Order: sequence, then structure tokens, then C-alpha cells
Amino acid sequence: MSSGGDRSLLERLSLDDLEPAELAGLRALVRVDFNVPLEGRGQERRVSSDVRIRAALPTIEALLERGSGVVLTSHLGRPKGPDPELTMAPVARRLEELLGRPVAYSPDSLRGGGSSPVDGEIALLENLRFDPGETANDPAFAKRLAAFADLFVQDAFGTCHRAHASTVGVTDHLDPCVAGRLVQRELAAFRRLLETPRRPFVSILGGAKIAGKLETLRGLLGRCDRVCLGGGMANTFLLARGLEVGDSLVEPDLLGEARALLERHGEALELPGDVVVARALAPGAEVRTVSAAEVEPGWRILDAGPRTVEAFGDRIRSAATIFWNGPLGVFETPPFDAGTRAFAELMACATVAGAYTVVGGGDSIAAIEEAGRLENVSHASTGGGAALELVSGVTLPGIAALDPPRDGSRSRRAEGT
Ligand code: AMP
Repeated sequence: MSSGGDRSLLERLSLDDLEPAELAGLRALVRVDFNVPLEGRGQERRVSSDVRIRAALPTIEALLERGSGVVLTSHLGRPKGPDPELTMAPVARRLEELLGRPVAYSPDSLRGGGSSPVDGEIALLENLRFDPGETANDPAFAKRLAAFADLFVQDAFGTCHRAHASTVGVTDHLDPCVAGRLVQRELAAFRRLLETPRRPFVSILGGAKIAGKLETLRGLLGRCDRVCLGGGMANTFLLARGLEVGDSLVEPDLLGEARALLERHGEALELPGDVVVARALAPGAEVRTVSAAEVEPGWRILDAGPRTVEAFGDRIRSAATIFWNGPLGVFETPPFDAGTRAFAELMACATVAGAYTVVGGGDSIAAIEEAGRLENVSHASTGGGAALELVSGVTLPGIAALDPPRDGSRSRRAEGT
């Protein structure tokens, strides 16, 4: 583990900063995010979306090209101990297909079974969460993981906000500890977003709950010229403004906080002007679009209205930097997906028009993907929770644990991404 002195904690040594001699003939432990969806049961289990596996290929290939052995390690699902339905076997099979070469996988690997790969070979360890030492950041477990390799490559940005054995503990035993290509891209994007944003900088925060996002909101209010609130999150703020919200999702415990934020940042904080309401979240229920000031008792706010989408759209049209996290409505259930979908399209247009756009969080990325416009955002972050913590101003332990850039090697690749 290393400290970065006065340097930004988002500037880390990367795989591409290493000299070939630092990799050839050595073994790299690579923390990847292979927490992929599966379908089928038992022997029939297979990976139903390999997006995350394909996302790790550039790092794996870079290591293989430089003659390094590759030991991949990931968690899969949330097992509380060994679970035959959550072994990495289907992931190993899919990875072999994608790479066109064998991947050594042994269900006993975490207990010391199976051997480390040599030059140019690949191994995949068993599901990290089968061992309680992973989430406990147990030093003995971290040491066992580190024994597979000589150096460490972090390529699972989505887990960097957790201090686990595979994200922090291992870095006490391996040298160097560097960012893989995926993490390097994430860091470059967040440096551009948080450290050198072109202005105006506008953020849009949606999603269900404010509990987990108040810190993010505070962080954004300190950085942005404007923050637009949508989704269930906005309801508590509408209530704090004294508006009727009927049976909408609200967090009464946080009403005081919401009021304080409105008082302090009223100018910069923008709430929905109109909303889509229904009596129930059920097929066939009556749906209306009303002004946010005209929600009646017995109705629930389930989406942003068209005037709101248009107003948020105006804000991002004149912005140079945009961050979006969280859907503007219950977008899993039509017709309450309309606001999020329309906004996703506006984000894509803003990117095409020259804004730097960062989208974080599975729901917002899914909305842009469904609109066929994923190519039209500058950066789709692979880490929802990690992105929110970074934006809040929190140091991610899994990033801080990586080595700082060496003098003169200031993140060469990052500058180009
Ligand atoms: P989060 O994980 O906090 O980003 O929240 C995502 C969830 O927020 C999605 O499942 C949406 O259905 C939900 N959501 C968005 N808007 C609302 C709303 N007005 N009322 C209830 N849930 C909402």
C-alpha cells in the first residue's frame, strides 16, 4: 500500500506505466468484476450477460502480451459461504470461449488447491465471497490471495469503495499495485469530472432513496453550478418545500436535512415542476400529469413530467460537464419509464453537442443502452456505489491502496483517454 503525498488520490500508477521487464515472467493477481448474471441451474448454469467479462479483456490481454501469468479473482453474487449455485465454473467456461485459450479453474483454489499459472497462462480463482475473510479484510486471507502472484492489478472499479481482502488487504503483500485499464479509464473520467470540470457543470440525481445519496448531493452542490433532482428522491424535497405529495415515497426522517439543503442551496437545487402521478403502481391504474404543486392526497408521484424533462434538458443543453445518476421515475414499469427514457435521449444529444457526460448507476446506464445511445455518453461508469462515493468526496480505499504514479510517468495513458 502506498500514499500519494499531495497528489490527487485519483492519480494512480497504471498497468501501462510499467516497464515490460516488470511484468515478463511474473504473475499478476487481477481483481476483476465478474459478478455477472447467470441463468439455469447446477451443471447447466451459464453466463447470461458477459459484458463485464469482455470489459476485463483489454487488461488480461495486455498482461499476456507482456509475458505475465494472470490470476483472476472476483466475487459472484452474495453468498454467505460456499454455494454450489455461485461457483465461478460458468464464468471460467465463458472466459475460455472469449479468449480462445484454456483458463485453469479449480473449486479448491481459495483453500490452496490448484497451482499458480506460469508465463502467459491464466487462472480464475473460486468466488471470493465463499471465504468470510474476503469481506472482513482478514489479513490471513489477504496473504493467501497474495501468495498466488507477484504484483497486483485492480480492474474492478465497482468494488473499490469496499475495504476487502481482495481490494485492500492484498496490497500489503504485493508490489507494485497498479490500476488495470478499466480502472484507469474510470479514474481519468472522474478526474476530469471532479478536478477539472469545464463549466457550467450540471448534475442530475434520481433514484429511490435519499438516505444513501445525501452525501452525494452535498458533494455535488459544492462542485456543480446546478443539481436537478428527480425520481423518488425529489419527493422528500417537494414535501420540504411545503408541497402535498400524497402517497409518494418520502423519507420523513430526512425532511429536516432536505429543508436545510434547500435553504442553503435553494438557487442551485432544481426540483421537478410537473410530475406523473397514479393512485397505484399497477397495470390499468389511472395516470395523470400534474403540476408538482397540485398532487392530491391518495396519489403517488411515479415519474417526472414532460415539462420537467424539458427544463432539465435546457439545463444540460447549456452545460459543458454533466453527471447523471438514478432514474427520474419508476422506469421498470411503463408508462413511468417515459421521463427517464426521454432524458436519456437528451443526455446523448448533449454529448454529441460537445458536453462531457458521465453516467453512473445501472438503471441510468440501462436507460441509455435501451435508447441505443450508449455510444453517445462520454463515460458510462462501471461502479454505481463507487461513483457516488467519489462524487461525495470520499476516498475509495481500493484506489488509495494502489501505488501513486512514479515521478515522470504521470499516468501516460490517462492523459490520452
Ligand atoms: P436507486 O437505486 O436509488 O438509484 O433507485 C433506483 C430505483 O428508484 C428504481 O428501481 C426506480 O423504480 C425507483 N424510483 C424512481 N423514481 C421513483 C418514484 N417516484 N417513486 C418510487 N420509486 C422510484
